[in-house]
Amino acid sequence: MTFAEIGLHPAILKALTDSGYSAPTSVQKEAIPAALEGRDLMVSSQTGSGKTAAFMLPALHRFASQERAADPARPASPERRPARGRSNDRQRFQPAQPRMLVLTPTRELALQVTAATDKYGRQLPNVHAVAILGGMPYPKQMELLGRNPEILVATPGRLIDHMSSGKIDFSQLQVLVLDEADRMLDMGFIEDIERIVAATPGSRQTMLFSATLDGTVGEMAKRMTRNALQIRVDEASTRHDNIEQRMHFVDDLSHKNRLLDHLLRDSSIDQALVFTATKRDADTVSDRLNLAGLNAAALHGDMHQGARNRTLTAMRRGQVRILVATDVAARGIDVPTITHVFNYDLPKFAEDYVHRIGRTGRAGRNGLAISLVHHAEHFNVKKIERFTKQLIPVAVVVGHEPTRRPAPAKPRPTGKPAWKGGENRSHKPSSAPRREGLPRTPYRDAGAHGAANTGRRTYGDR
Ligand code: AMP
Repeated sequence: MTFAEIGLHPAILKALTDSGYSAPTSVQKEAIPAALEGRDLMVSSQTGSGKTAAFMLPALHRFASQERAADPARPASPERRPARGRSNDRQRFQPAQPRMLVLTPTRELALQVTAATDKYGRQLPNVHAVAILGGMPYPKQMELLGRNPEILVATPGRLIDHMSSGKIDFSQLQVLVLDEADRMLDMGFIEDIERIVAATPGSRQTMLFSATLDGTVGEMAKRMTRNALQIRVDEASTRHDNIEQRMHFVDDLSHKNRLLDHLLRDSSIDQALVFTATKRDADTVSDRLNLAGLNAAALHGDMHQGARNRTLTAMRRGQVRILVATDVAARGIDVPTITHVFNYDLPKFAEDYVHRIGRTGRAGRNGLAISLVHHAEHFNVKKIERFTKQLIPVAVVVGHEPTRRPAPAKPRPTGKPAWKGGENRSHKPSSAPRREGLPRTPYRDAGAHGAANTGRRTYGDR
Protein backbone atom coordinates (compact mmCIF):
# COMPACT_ATOMS: atom_id res chain seq x y z
CA MET A 1 0.00 0.00 0.00
CA THR A 2 1.33 3.45 -0.91
CA PHE A 3 0.45 6.89 0.44
CA ALA A 4 -1.16 7.65 -2.95
CA GLU A 5 -3.31 4.51 -2.73
CA ILE A 6 -4.49 5.63 0.70
CA GLY A 7 -5.86 8.66 -1.13
CA LEU A 8 -4.07 11.51 0.61
CA HIS A 9 -4.28 15.04 -0.82
CA PRO A 10 -1.70 15.67 -3.62
CA ALA A 11 -0.08 18.50 -1.66
CA ILE A 12 0.60 16.07 1.22
CA LEU A 13 1.90 13.40 -1.16
CA LYS A 14 4.37 15.94 -2.54
CA ALA A 15 5.59 16.81 0.97
CA LEU A 16 6.01 13.12 1.79
CA THR A 17 8.04 12.51 -1.35
CA ASP A 18 10.19 15.53 -0.50
CA SER A 19 10.69 14.08 3.01
CA GLY A 20 11.91 10.81 1.48
CA TYR A 21 8.99 8.71 2.77
CA SER A 22 8.48 5.97 0.21
CA ALA A 23 5.87 3.85 1.99
CA PRO A 24 3.68 4.07 5.06
CA THR A 25 4.85 2.37 8.26
CA SER A 26 2.65 -0.33 9.87
CA VAL A 27 0.85 2.08 12.16
CA GLN A 28 0.29 4.51 9.31
CA LYS A 29 -1.17 1.76 7.08
CA GLU A 30 -3.76 0.94 9.70
CA ALA A 31 -4.47 4.33 11.22
CA ILE A 32 -4.57 6.71 8.23
CA PRO A 33 -7.41 5.07 6.22
CA ALA A 34 -9.59 4.76 9.34
CA ALA A 35 -8.84 8.33 10.39
CA LEU A 36 -9.68 9.59 6.90
CA GLU A 37 -13.12 8.02 7.35
CA GLY A 38 -13.45 10.15 10.46
CA ARG A 39 -13.20 7.28 12.94
CA ASP A 40 -11.88 7.67 16.45
CA LEU A 41 -8.70 5.71 17.14
CA MET A 42 -7.03 4.09 20.14
CA VAL A 43 -3.53 3.14 19.07
CA SER A 44 -0.86 1.36 21.05
CA SER A 45 2.44 2.14 19.40
CA GLN A 46 5.94 3.06 20.40
CA THR A 47 7.62 6.27 19.53
CA GLY A 48 9.69 5.72 16.42
CA SER A 49 6.88 3.83 14.70
CA GLY A 50 5.81 6.84 12.62
CA LYS A 51 2.82 7.66 14.84
CA THR A 52 3.05 11.44 14.33
CA ALA A 53 2.33 11.12 10.63
CA ALA A 54 -0.37 8.54 11.45
CA PHE A 55 -2.50 11.22 13.11
CA MET A 56 -1.22 14.35 11.37
CA LEU A 57 -1.56 13.27 7.72
CA PRO A 58 -5.31 12.50 7.91
CA ALA A 59 -5.89 15.77 9.78
CA LEU A 60 -3.94 17.78 7.19
CA HIS A 61 -5.89 15.99 4.46
CA ARG A 62 -9.13 17.06 6.12
CA PHE A 63 -8.02 20.71 6.33
CA ALA A 64 -6.61 20.72 2.79
CA SER A 65 -9.90 19.43 1.45
CA GLN A 66 -11.90 21.91 3.51
CA GLU A 67 -9.80 24.74 2.16
CA ARG A 68 -10.72 23.86 -1.37
CA ALA A 69 -14.38 23.64 -0.43
CA ALA A 70 -14.14 26.82 1.72
CA ASP A 71 -15.11 26.04 5.26
CA PRO A 72 -18.31 27.96 6.05
CA ALA A 73 -17.73 27.56 9.76
CA ARG A 74 -14.62 29.64 9.47
CA PRO A 75 -14.24 32.94 7.69
CA ALA A 76 -11.33 33.20 5.24
CA SER A 77 -7.98 34.35 6.57
CA PRO A 78 -8.05 38.14 6.10
CA GLU A 79 -11.20 38.69 8.16
CA ARG A 80 -10.28 36.00 10.60
CA ARG A 81 -7.76 38.28 12.15
CA PRO A 82 -8.04 41.98 11.40
CA ALA A 83 -4.63 43.48 10.73
CA ARG A 84 -3.29 44.55 14.09
CA GLY A 85 -1.79 47.93 13.46
CA ARG A 86 -0.83 50.19 16.31
CA SER A 87 -4.34 51.59 16.44
CA ASN A 88 -5.64 48.09 17.09
CA ASP A 89 -3.33 47.41 19.98
CA ARG A 90 -6.04 48.01 22.52
CA GLN A 91 -8.56 46.01 20.59
CA ARG A 92 -9.87 43.04 22.61
CA PHE A 93 -7.86 39.87 22.04
CA GLN A 94 -9.90 37.51 19.91
CA PRO A 95 -9.55 33.96 21.17
CA ALA A 96 -7.79 31.50 18.88
CA GLN A 97 -10.18 28.97 17.35
CA PRO A 98 -8.04 25.96 16.42
CA ARG A 99 -9.42 23.16 14.29
CA MET A 100 -7.01 20.63 15.76
CA LEU A 101 -5.42 20.16 19.16
CA VAL A 102 -2.54 17.78 19.90
CA LEU A 103 -1.76 17.25 23.58
CA THR A 104 1.70 15.97 24.43
CA PRO A 105 3.39 15.20 27.76
CA THR A 106 6.55 17.25 27.18
CA ARG A 107 7.73 20.40 25.49
CA GLU A 108 10.24 18.49 23.39
CA LEU A 109 7.60 16.21 21.97
CA ALA A 110 5.33 19.20 21.29
CA LEU A 111 8.11 20.94 19.35
CA GLN A 112 8.82 17.78 17.45
CA VAL A 113 5.17 17.30 16.50
CA THR A 114 5.02 20.95 15.38
CA ALA A 115 8.15 20.51 13.27
CA ALA A 116 6.75 17.33 11.70
CA THR A 117 3.48 19.16 10.94
CA ASP A 118 5.40 21.96 9.22
CA LYS A 119 7.18 19.32 7.15
CA TYR A 120 4.04 17.40 6.15
CA GLY A 121 2.06 20.60 5.57
CA ARG A 122 4.75 22.47 3.65
CA GLN A 123 2.60 22.54 0.51
CA LEU A 124 -0.45 23.80 2.42
CA PRO A 125 0.35 27.49 2.99
CA ASN A 126 -2.90 28.18 4.83
CA VAL A 127 -2.50 25.49 7.47
CA HIS A 128 -0.35 26.55 10.40
CA ALA A 129 0.69 24.77 13.56
CA VAL A 130 2.01 26.40 16.71
CA ALA A 131 3.32 24.96 19.95
CA ILE A 132 1.99 26.30 23.25
CA LEU A 133 4.39 25.32 25.98
CA GLY A 134 5.37 26.00 29.51
CA GLY A 135 8.64 27.91 29.61
CA MET A 136 7.91 29.98 26.50
CA PRO A 137 7.60 33.76 27.14
CA TYR A 138 3.98 34.81 27.52
CA PRO A 139 4.05 37.65 24.91
CA LYS A 140 5.44 35.22 22.35
CA GLN A 141 2.59 32.80 23.04
CA MET A 142 0.03 35.59 22.76
CA GLU A 143 1.50 36.52 19.41
CA LEU A 144 1.28 32.91 18.21
CA LEU A 145 -2.31 32.56 19.40
CA GLY A 146 -3.13 35.91 17.80
CA ARG A 147 -2.35 34.34 14.43
CA ASN A 148 -5.27 32.00 14.99
CA PRO A 149 -3.48 28.83 13.93
CA GLU A 150 -5.43 25.83 12.62
CA ILE A 151 -3.38 23.44 14.72
CA LEU A 152 -2.33 23.83 18.34
CA VAL A 153 0.23 21.48 19.82
CA ALA A 154 0.38 21.90 23.57
CA THR A 155 1.40 20.54 26.92
CA PRO A 156 -1.68 20.39 29.19
CA GLY A 157 -0.59 22.80 31.97
CA ARG A 158 0.14 25.84 29.81
CA LEU A 159 -2.91 25.22 27.66
CA ILE A 160 -5.14 25.34 30.74
CA ASP A 161 -3.63 28.74 31.64
CA HIS A 162 -4.63 30.15 28.24
CA MET A 163 -8.06 28.53 28.35
CA SER A 164 -8.73 30.03 31.78
CA SER A 165 -7.85 33.50 30.57
CA GLY A 166 -10.15 33.16 27.55
CA LYS A 167 -7.38 33.07 24.93
CA ILE A 168 -8.59 29.87 23.29
CA ASP A 169 -12.05 28.89 22.10
CA PHE A 170 -12.48 25.24 21.16
CA SER A 171 -15.93 25.59 19.58
CA GLN A 172 -14.47 25.00 16.09
CA LEU A 173 -12.32 22.05 17.10
CA GLN A 174 -12.64 19.07 14.79
CA VAL A 175 -9.71 16.84 15.74
CA LEU A 176 -8.24 16.04 19.16
CA VAL A 177 -5.08 13.97 19.56
CA LEU A 178 -3.69 12.67 22.85
CA ASP A 179 -0.10 11.74 22.10
CA GLU A 180 1.79 9.47 24.52
CA ALA A 181 -1.32 9.41 26.69
CA ASP A 182 0.18 6.90 29.15
CA ARG A 183 3.00 9.30 29.79
CA MET A 184 0.66 12.22 30.37
CA LEU A 185 -1.13 10.15 33.00
CA ASP A 186 2.19 9.16 34.61
CA MET A 187 3.03 12.85 34.83
CA GLY A 188 -0.22 13.60 36.67
CA PHE A 189 -2.04 15.44 33.87
CA ILE A 190 -5.30 13.52 34.18
CA GLU A 191 -7.37 16.39 35.61
CA ASP A 192 -5.99 18.89 33.10
CA ILE A 193 -6.77 16.50 30.27
CA GLU A 194 -10.33 15.92 31.51
CA ARG A 195 -10.85 19.68 31.70
CA ILE A 196 -9.47 20.30 28.23
CA VAL A 197 -11.50 17.50 26.66
CA ALA A 198 -14.67 18.77 28.37
CA ALA A 199 -14.13 22.14 26.64
CA THR A 200 -14.11 20.59 23.15
CA PRO A 201 -17.19 19.78 21.02
CA GLY A 202 -18.67 16.28 21.30
CA SER A 203 -18.61 16.04 17.49
CA ARG A 204 -14.79 16.01 17.39
CA GLN A 205 -12.68 13.14 16.08
CA THR A 206 -10.43 11.79 18.84
CA MET A 207 -7.19 9.85 18.30
CA LEU A 208 -5.32 8.53 21.30
CA PHE A 209 -1.79 7.15 21.07
CA SER A 210 -0.13 5.35 23.94
CA ALA A 211 2.58 2.77 24.58
CA THR A 212 -0.10 0.69 26.28
CA LEU A 213 -3.87 0.65 26.25
CA ASP A 214 -4.16 -1.33 29.47
CA GLY A 215 -5.42 -0.13 32.84
CA THR A 216 -6.15 3.54 33.53
CA VAL A 217 -5.08 4.77 30.12
CA GLY A 218 -7.39 2.26 28.41
CA GLU A 219 -10.30 3.40 30.60
CA MET A 220 -9.57 7.04 29.83
CA ALA A 221 -9.31 6.23 26.11
CA LYS A 222 -12.74 4.58 26.15
CA ARG A 223 -14.28 7.55 27.96
CA MET A 224 -12.88 10.06 25.50
CA THR A 225 -13.52 8.25 22.21
CA ARG A 226 -16.62 6.98 20.42
CA ASN A 227 -16.66 3.54 18.84
CA ALA A 228 -12.88 3.83 18.44
CA LEU A 229 -10.94 1.49 16.23
CA GLN A 230 -8.27 -0.21 18.33
CA ILE A 231 -4.92 -0.60 16.62
CA ARG A 232 -2.00 -2.47 18.10
CA VAL A 233 1.16 -2.03 16.11
CA ASP A 234 3.05 -5.11 15.01
CA GLU A 235 5.14 -6.79 17.64
CA ALA A 236 8.41 -6.29 15.77
CA SER A 237 8.48 -2.55 16.25
CA THR A 238 7.17 -2.61 19.82
CA ARG A 239 9.86 -5.16 20.69
CA HIS A 240 12.48 -2.92 19.12
CA ASP A 241 13.88 -5.88 17.17
CA ASN A 242 16.19 -3.54 15.27
CA ILE A 243 17.88 -2.48 18.52
CA GLU A 244 20.58 -4.72 19.95
CA GLN A 245 20.71 -4.65 23.73
CA ARG A 246 23.64 -5.35 26.02
CA MET A 247 24.53 -4.85 29.64
CA HIS A 248 27.85 -4.51 31.41
CA PHE A 249 28.28 -5.17 35.11
CA VAL A 250 30.24 -2.50 36.97
CA ASP A 251 31.82 -2.64 40.42
CA ASP A 252 31.47 1.00 41.44
CA LEU A 253 31.15 4.55 40.13
CA SER A 254 34.75 4.84 39.08
CA HIS A 255 34.55 1.57 37.12
CA LYS A 256 31.31 2.79 35.53
CA ASN A 257 32.90 6.09 34.45
CA ARG A 258 35.98 4.41 33.01
CA LEU A 259 33.87 1.92 31.11
CA LEU A 260 31.57 4.64 29.76
CA ASP A 261 34.56 6.66 28.53
CA HIS A 262 35.94 3.58 26.84
CA LEU A 263 32.65 2.62 25.18
CA LEU A 264 31.99 6.16 23.97
CA ARG A 265 35.26 6.13 22.06
CA ASP A 266 33.91 3.40 19.78
CA SER A 267 34.20 4.74 16.25
CA SER A 268 30.91 3.09 15.23
CA ILE A 269 29.05 5.68 17.31
CA ASP A 270 27.65 8.52 15.21
CA GLN A 271 25.79 10.07 18.09
CA ALA A 272 24.91 8.74 21.52
CA LEU A 273 22.36 9.47 24.19
CA VAL A 274 23.42 8.79 27.77
CA PHE A 275 20.67 8.56 30.40
CA THR A 276 21.26 9.56 33.99
CA ALA A 277 18.86 9.31 36.93
CA THR A 278 19.23 12.93 38.05
CA LYS A 279 19.65 16.36 36.50
CA ARG A 280 22.77 16.87 38.55
CA ASP A 281 24.32 13.67 37.23
CA ALA A 282 23.48 14.75 33.69
CA ASP A 283 25.59 17.88 34.25
CA THR A 284 28.38 16.05 36.06
CA VAL A 285 28.70 13.28 33.50
CA SER A 286 28.56 15.72 30.61
CA ASP A 287 31.27 17.91 32.21
CA ARG A 288 33.44 14.89 32.85
CA LEU A 289 33.09 13.62 29.28
CA ASN A 290 34.01 17.05 27.92
CA LEU A 291 37.09 17.13 30.13
CA ALA A 292 37.99 13.70 28.75
CA GLY A 293 37.90 15.19 25.24
CA LEU A 294 34.52 13.77 24.21
CA ASN A 295 32.02 16.19 22.69
CA ALA A 296 29.09 16.12 25.13
CA ALA A 297 26.18 18.30 26.25
CA ALA A 298 23.59 17.95 29.00
CA LEU A 299 19.82 18.15 28.62
CA HIS A 300 17.51 18.30 31.61
CA GLY A 301 14.50 20.06 33.06
CA ASP A 302 16.42 22.65 35.06
CA MET A 303 17.73 24.22 31.88
CA HIS A 304 15.83 27.14 30.35
CA GLN A 305 13.75 26.24 27.35
CA GLY A 306 16.01 28.31 25.09
CA ALA A 307 19.10 26.38 26.23
CA ARG A 308 17.29 23.07 25.77
CA ASN A 309 16.25 24.01 22.25
CA ARG A 310 19.77 25.14 21.37
CA THR A 311 21.23 21.87 22.67
CA LEU A 312 18.75 19.80 20.69
CA THR A 313 19.40 21.82 17.54
CA ALA A 314 23.15 21.32 18.00
CA MET A 315 22.51 17.59 18.39
CA ARG A 316 20.37 17.47 15.25
CA ARG A 317 23.05 19.37 13.31
CA GLY A 318 25.69 16.91 14.49
CA GLN A 319 27.59 19.57 16.45
CA VAL A 320 27.16 17.54 19.64
CA ARG A 321 28.13 13.87 19.62
CA ILE A 322 26.95 12.81 23.06
CA LEU A 323 23.82 14.04 24.80
CA VAL A 324 23.58 13.30 28.51
CA ALA A 325 19.93 13.53 29.54
CA THR A 326 17.29 12.70 32.09
CA ASP A 327 14.14 10.78 31.14
CA VAL A 328 11.73 13.67 30.99
CA ALA A 329 14.05 15.89 28.95
CA ALA A 330 14.82 13.12 26.51
CA ARG A 331 11.22 12.09 26.00
CA GLY A 332 10.26 12.59 22.40
CA ILE A 333 13.76 13.28 21.12
CA ASP A 334 13.85 12.23 17.50
CA VAL A 335 17.36 12.42 16.15
CA PRO A 336 17.65 9.62 13.58
CA THR A 337 21.48 9.72 13.72
CA ILE A 338 21.57 8.51 17.34
CA THR A 339 23.22 5.13 16.95
CA HIS A 340 23.73 4.29 20.63
CA VAL A 341 21.78 4.68 23.85
CA PHE A 342 23.59 4.23 27.16
CA ASN A 343 21.87 3.72 30.47
CA TYR A 344 24.42 5.23 32.82
CA ASP A 345 21.75 4.65 35.43
CA LEU A 346 18.94 2.17 34.96
CA PRO A 347 15.49 3.73 34.77
CA LYS A 348 13.10 3.36 37.70
CA PHE A 349 10.37 1.87 35.56
CA ALA A 350 10.68 -0.84 32.95
CA GLU A 351 8.49 1.18 30.55
CA ASP A 352 11.08 3.94 30.63
CA TYR A 353 13.72 1.47 29.50
CA VAL A 354 11.67 0.79 26.37
CA HIS A 355 11.21 4.51 25.75
CA ARG A 356 14.89 5.17 26.28
CA ILE A 357 16.22 2.55 23.93
CA GLY A 358 13.65 3.66 21.34
CA ARG A 359 15.69 6.87 20.93
CA THR A 360 17.99 4.85 18.68
CA GLY A 361 17.02 2.63 15.76
CA ARG A 362 14.74 5.37 14.39
CA ALA A 363 13.06 5.26 11.00
CA GLY A 364 14.09 1.71 10.17
CA ARG A 365 17.75 2.01 11.21
CA ASN A 366 19.57 -0.31 13.62
CA GLY A 367 20.69 0.77 17.06
CA LEU A 368 22.58 -0.44 20.10
CA ALA A 369 21.44 0.05 23.70
CA ILE A 370 23.99 -0.51 26.46
CA SER A 371 23.19 -0.54 30.19
CA LEU A 372 25.81 -0.15 32.90
CA VAL A 373 24.58 -2.14 35.86
CA HIS A 374 25.85 -2.53 39.39
CA HIS A 375 25.45 -6.12 40.55
CA ALA A 376 23.07 -4.97 43.27
CA GLU A 377 20.74 -3.66 40.55
CA HIS A 378 20.37 -7.03 38.92
CA PHE A 379 16.84 -7.22 40.23
CA ASN A 380 15.93 -4.14 38.13
CA VAL A 381 17.31 -5.82 35.05
CA LYS A 382 15.02 -8.76 35.74
CA LYS A 383 12.07 -6.39 35.93
CA ILE A 384 13.00 -4.92 32.57
CA GLU A 385 13.45 -8.35 31.02
CA ARG A 386 10.10 -9.45 32.36
CA PHE A 387 8.46 -6.36 30.87
CA THR A 388 10.11 -6.61 27.45
CA LYS A 389 10.04 -10.42 27.42
CA GLN A 390 13.60 -10.26 26.16
CA LEU A 391 16.90 -11.18 27.77
CA ILE A 392 19.62 -8.57 27.78
CA PRO A 393 22.92 -10.31 27.05
CA VAL A 394 25.83 -9.52 29.33
CA ALA A 395 28.94 -8.13 27.66
CA VAL A 396 32.45 -7.66 29.00
CA VAL A 397 35.20 -5.39 27.68
CA VAL A 398 38.66 -6.82 28.00
CA GLY A 399 40.61 -4.69 30.48
CA HIS A 400 37.37 -3.44 32.07
CA GLU A 401 36.05 -6.71 33.52
CA PRO A 402 33.99 -6.45 36.69
CA THR A 403 35.33 -8.21 39.74
CA ARG A 404 31.84 -9.03 40.89
CA ARG A 405 28.73 -9.96 39.02
CA PRO A 406 25.76 -12.18 39.69
CA ALA A 407 26.52 -15.84 39.11
CA PRO A 408 24.81 -17.69 36.26
CA ALA A 409 21.30 -18.85 36.92
CA LYS A 410 20.89 -22.55 37.53
CA PRO A 411 18.02 -23.95 35.50
CA ARG A 412 15.46 -25.29 37.92
CA PRO A 413 13.87 -28.65 37.34
CA THR A 414 10.57 -26.95 36.60
CA GLY A 415 12.20 -24.89 33.90
CA LYS A 416 10.96 -21.85 35.80
CA PRO A 417 12.35 -18.69 34.22
CA ALA A 418 14.93 -16.68 36.10
CA TRP A 419 12.57 -13.75 36.47
CA LYS A 420 10.06 -15.98 38.23
CA GLY A 421 12.53 -16.66 40.98
CA GLY A 422 14.64 -19.26 39.21
CA GLU A 423 17.86 -17.30 39.38
CA ASN A 424 20.66 -18.01 41.77
CA ARG A 425 21.05 -14.90 43.87
CA SER A 426 24.62 -15.62 44.89
CA HIS A 427 26.94 -12.88 43.67
CA LYS A 428 30.07 -14.96 43.53
CA PRO A 429 32.33 -13.85 40.71
CA SER A 430 32.27 -16.24 37.82
CA SER A 431 35.61 -17.09 36.32
CA ALA A 432 35.76 -17.92 32.63
CA PRO A 433 33.37 -16.71 29.94
CA ARG A 434 30.64 -19.25 29.42
CA ARG A 435 27.51 -19.50 27.36
CA GLU A 436 25.83 -22.25 29.31
CA GLY A 437 23.54 -21.74 32.26
CA LEU A 438 20.92 -19.71 30.42
CA PRO A 439 17.60 -20.11 32.14
CA ARG A 440 14.95 -21.74 30.00
CA THR A 441 12.67 -18.86 29.26
CA PRO A 442 9.63 -18.56 27.08
CA TYR A 443 11.31 -15.79 25.15
CA ARG A 444 14.28 -15.17 22.97
CA ASP A 445 17.61 -16.81 23.62
CA ALA A 446 20.23 -14.21 24.52
CA GLY A 447 22.62 -16.03 22.20
CA ALA A 448 20.50 -14.99 19.26
CA HIS A 449 21.96 -11.49 19.56
CA GLY A 450 25.33 -12.83 18.48
CA ALA A 451 28.69 -11.90 19.88
CA ALA A 452 29.65 -8.35 20.60
CA ASN A 453 32.23 -6.39 18.61
CA THR A 454 35.87 -7.31 18.45
CA GLY A 455 37.47 -6.94 21.82
CA ARG A 456 34.25 -7.67 23.65
CA ARG A 457 32.77 -10.95 24.62
CA THR A 458 29.10 -11.58 25.12
CA TYR A 459 28.09 -14.04 27.75
CA GLY A 460 24.72 -15.63 27.84
CA ASP A 461 24.97 -16.36 31.56
CA ARG A 462 24.13 -14.18 34.53
P1 AMP B 1 7.53 9.10 15.13
O1 AMP B 1 7.16 7.72 15.62
O2 AMP B 1 6.34 9.84 14.61
O3 AMP B 1 8.31 9.86 16.18
O4 AMP B 1 8.49 8.93 13.85
C1 AMP B 1 9.76 8.35 13.91
C2 AMP B 1 10.65 8.71 12.74
O5 AMP B 1 10.20 8.04 11.57
C3 AMP B 1 10.69 10.19 12.38
O6 AMP B 1 12.05 10.52 12.12
C4 AMP B 1 9.87 10.31 11.12
O7 AMP B 1 10.31 11.37 10.32
C5 AMP B 1 10.13 8.96 10.48
N1 AMP B 1 9.02 8.47 9.62
C6 AMP B 1 7.70 8.50 9.91
N2 AMP B 1 6.98 7.92 8.92
C7 AMP B 1 7.86 7.51 7.99
C8 AMP B 1 7.72 6.85 6.71
N3 AMP B 1 6.55 6.46 6.24
N4 AMP B 1 8.86 6.58 6.03
C9 AMP B 1 10.08 6.95 6.53
N5 AMP B 1 10.28 7.59 7.70
C10 AMP B 1 9.18 7.86 8.44
